[in-house]
Amino acid sequence: MEVLQDVKKRVFKFGNKTADGNSEMRNLLGGKGANLAEMSSIGIPVPPGFTITTEVCTEYNELGQIAAINLIKDEVEASVASIESQMGAAFGDKDNPLLISVRSGARVSMPGMMDTVLNLGINDEVVLGLAKKTNNERFAWDSYRRFIQMYGGVVLGMKPASKEDIDPFEEIMEHLKEKRGITLDTEFTLQDLQDLVYDFKDAVKKRTGKNFPTNPWDQLWGAIIAVFNSWNGDRAVYYRNMNGYPADWGTAVNVQAMVYGNMGENSGTGVCFTRDAGTGENIFNGEYLINAQGEDVVAGVRTPQQITKIGSQRWAELAKIEEEDRAENYPSLEELMPTIFSELNSYQDILEKHYRDMQDMEFTIQDGKLWILQTRNGKRTGAAMVKIAMDLQKEGMIDEKEALMLVEPNKLDELLHPVFDPEALKRAKVIAQGLPASPGAATGKIVFFADEADKYKNSILVRIETSPEDLEGMNIAKGILTARGGMTSHAAVVARGMGKCCISGAGALKIDYKRRTVTIGNQKYHEGDWISLNGSTGNIIEGKVATKEPQLSGEFAEIMNLADKYGEIKVRTNADTPRDAKVARSFGAQGIGLTRTEHMFFELDRIKAMREMILADTVKGRKQALEELLPMQRSDFEGIFEAMEGCAVTIRLLDPPLHEFVPHQLATQKELAEDMHISLQAVKNKVAELEEFNPMLGHRGCRLGNTYPEITEMQARAIIEAALNLKERGVVCKPEIMIPLVGTVKEFEMQEQIIRRTAKTIFKERNDAVEYSVGTMIEIPRAALMADLIAEKADFFSFGTNDLTQMTFGYSRDDASKFLPKYIEKGILKVDPFEVIDQEGVGQLVKIGTQRGRATKPELKVGICGEHGGEPSSIEFCYNTGMDYVSCSPYRVPIARLVSAQAAIKSTM
Ligand code: ADP
Ligand code: MG
Ligand code: MG
Repeated sequence: MEVLQDVKKRVFKFGNKTADGNSEMRNLLGGKGANLAEMSSIGIPVPPGFTITTEVCTEYNELGQIAAINLIKDEVEASVASIESQMGAAFGDKDNPLLISVRSGARVSMPGMMDTVLNLGINDEVVLGLAKKTNNERFAWDSYRRFIQMYGGVVLGMKPASKEDIDPFEEIMEHLKEKRGITLDTEFTLQDLQDLVYDFKDAVKKRTGKNFPTNPWDQLWGAIIAVFNSWNGDRAVYYRNMNGYPADWGTAVNVQAMVYGNMGENSGTGVCFTRDAGTGENIFNGEYLINAQGEDVVAGVRTPQQITKIGSQRWAELAKIEEEDRAENYPSLEELMPTIFSELNSYQDILEKHYRDMQDMEFTIQDGKLWILQTRNGKRTGAAMVKIAMDLQKEGMIDEKEALMLVEPNKLDELLHPVFDPEALKRAKVIAQGLPASPGAATGKIVFFADEADKYKNSILVRIETSPEDLEGMNIAKGILTARGGMTSHAAVVARGMGKCCISGAGALKIDYKRRTVTIGNQKYHEGDWISLNGSTGNIIEGKVATKEPQLSGEFAEIMNLADKYGEIKVRTNADTPRDAKVARSFGAQGIGLTRTEHMFFELDRIKAMREMILADTVKGRKQALEELLPMQRSDFEGIFEAMEGCAVTIRLLDPPLHEFVPHQLATQKELAEDMHISLQAVKNKVAELEEFNPMLGHRGCRLGNTYPEITEMQARAIIEAALNLKERGVVCKPEIMIPLVGTVKEFEMQEQIIRRTAKTIFKERNDAVEYSVGTMIEIPRAALMADLIAEKADFFSFGTNDLTQMTFGYSRDDASKFLPKYIEKGILKVDPFEVIDQEGVGQLVKIGTQRGRATKPELKVGICGEHGGEPSSIEFCYNTGMDYVSCSPYRVPIARLVSAQAAIKSTM
């Protein structure tokens, strides 16, 4: 074991146009590290450095700090030496010091999740050397105070614990600013900065009881360990859980020579995107700040400026800033540093072509020299994702299949949800405007703190600015509004990633956290007041604005057409009403995989008839009540068949236990007794009689139809008559009658006989006929195992994976929420098996059922109709199992169509 570990490479160097790693190695080097390596090898100027692998993070978590450091000590020291020789400076040297940054980077980008320390390696002696070497004392001390601040927060745990606490360093800075009558960090004098360093160290001593570490190597190891620890920090864990990223991925650590954007007016830092991350337009854009470092641009401390002139002019228009004022005070990088701009412009072009996707880049200008610090495939809204994929394909950068693979199925969801009703928008009162940071329509009640986002059902989070701590609340809120920050502020980037509507930098907002109010002009709004955000225009609107269904047009329609070109497994929908059926059809559903008939019984007069049927003591009484239900069911089916004209419609016979239909409250029980002219006691007795210890495993599904055949008879009649009625009107429909909860062949046979007999009678009555088929759900493990025999009788199978999961795991669907979250937290289960199909276990039954069924009847039609039918990885599984179709809720249909194409493409790769 020891020997093996010794030969394993744990540290990968990059810099000076070479690298040990490359972009393929993101699992090992993390996304940031892999791309730093790649950029270095293709000749993009990145400061030299090295990456400690994600495996070391896992080793650290298993073996502890001392063992982990021992594993990498030699490699790290050699790699630091290599940076030293490339930069011509020495780590910790007091005359010619090298400073470094320590950056985290997991395999997927987690914005703001992990913590970065800049300017590491500085101390009381080094700062003097740095000042002398750069001939810039102010810069040296600014770097020093930044370092203590970041190191104190990230490594020494001095970040404020709650929203009431104040950051101790910010507090010191605020005091000084007040004392000196200044507002910006850049206004600090050299003396101020030196005072700050002194006060900061003092604060560290007071808080931690220890002196601030002066030895650069101690600083470095402290920072590396802190990055590893941040992988298990609250924010990171929340983000991981939200996205289903396993804990054992770990984070890499990137150590890199510092380049300084804070060296004066000829320096700066910024972020840029090769295309518009909100709309997808092919427009290079971004923001920068002169004389600034690291996160200054996204932190929203100063108002960042635009990279391009066009972008700057657009921005000024929104911010209501006159052209003269703009050119003078907020010039673009293109205007201010044309040479640097054109160099940056060429790198963005190279990188986009190289990665063949929209890039999100970080850069720093040190004294007139441009350095690139990061590139990654940019986060984008659902709309931008679709447009970019189609545009890249049309530009010839990628082919059709690659375009399809570039679209993230779940993100399509954003495009399928309501937008503001244009009519309602016309009447809306716009009270202020901010930057259109992330498109969409959001309406909700104002909250001011992220941890209170769940205070209302629909909330809008209103903040001066957001920080990584706010992530959870941002996810809960319907929309996000900030007073400060640009298009690349934390709020904007995170919101776009989440596909959440966001308006940032709305300067007119005066937020008072203490009083929980926001004042716009002379109007004051309180917590709980309704506002609406139009993330596409930046308009902030008073009150509630009506929304309407979205339209599948433009690039969305194009990508869907492409999906159908490559997709193989068909996509149907689960729909219980004509309205659902119509929506699903407009989204491209090719039929209905599940119509639940019981939902139809809950409406007012129907539930009464249903209850009468249940309460009837005789077959005759039951038949009478069913007689009343028949026309209602028939007209429901007619509506659905009509909406799905020409397509197959699978109708499931009554499934839930009868006690779900009887009244459980005294008042309604009394009412029913009166209506039926029976005693209250009789009603109560019946309710008690229907009570089950375990209704999920009780008297339900085909067990109902087999004990009360007249129910099946009525339902079969309603279906067949509806089909015949439509036939008379020239509407083609293909009913598939589905028998639920079959476990034995006999159960199926008895139901099938009733259905076929009923159909025959009706055909004779009407002297007409329609085609129909009779199949079953496979949702009891026994049915999957007996599939060969069941297939002798059944025309089709539809896997009911909700019940199948429940019965295979033995987890009650209704009670699982009591323990499933804990199970996932503890790693007993990776994901909720009711959301994502358990391919290992439940999947075996699906495979067995399909194979055995098809062994008997090769043409057997097989599909799925559980919730899993709309979940990407489950759909892929269904495709690989050889199913004919998946069926999912209407709004998931486009997602399923895309996954269908992706699954087919993957199978050929
Ligand atoms: P995140 O993952 O949160 O973006 P990063 O590691 O990218 O964190 O770093 C935070 C900020 O510090 C970024 O703006 C980055 O460009 C900057 N930065 C990181 N390392 C250096 C460095 N060696 N020189 C200059 N700036 C750096
Ligand atoms: Mg970064
Ligand atoms: Mg079921």
